[in-house]
Amino acid sequence: MFPLTSAQLEAVAGGHTYRQGARYAQSAHVTDQLRIGSALSARFHGTRGIYGTRLDVSGRSFQFECTCPLGGSREPCKHVIALGLAWLEHPDAFRDLDVTLARLAHMTKSDIVTLLRQAAQSLPELIRLLDRRRRE
Ligand SMILES: [Zn+2]
Repeated sequence: MFPLTSAQLEAVAGGHTYRQGARYAQSAHVTDQLRIGSALSARFHGTRGIYGTRLDVSGRSFQFECTCPLGGSREPCKHVIALGLAWLEHPDAFRDLDVTLARLAHMTKSDIVTLLRQAAQSLPELIRLLDRRRRE
């Protein structure tokens, strides 16, 4: 269902980064694990900051990005590898946007508005997104 293996991660990263990522995956503080279709994302809470990491495995080659200092490279950083390994080891820790949207589809409009009100209090940037959507 999701075409990803540790061998693919090792092939795209090379042995050194793969081993770094595998070690990091064991100790990393990871939050906000999310799956959107063929893309995985999470936040890694490192000693030097919080990094947003994304890995999309839909194509023949992986697409990835990370906000860490090494994230602009053509090679994946240890966070990208740790993200892929986190998915392989604990897929149940990832929220699936499609599942969430399917649940929302069964809610009443009033319940969805209440939910958005609560969400906007935690995520003020959501208000800007909702206003932009209304103008389109
Ligand atoms: Zn990174």
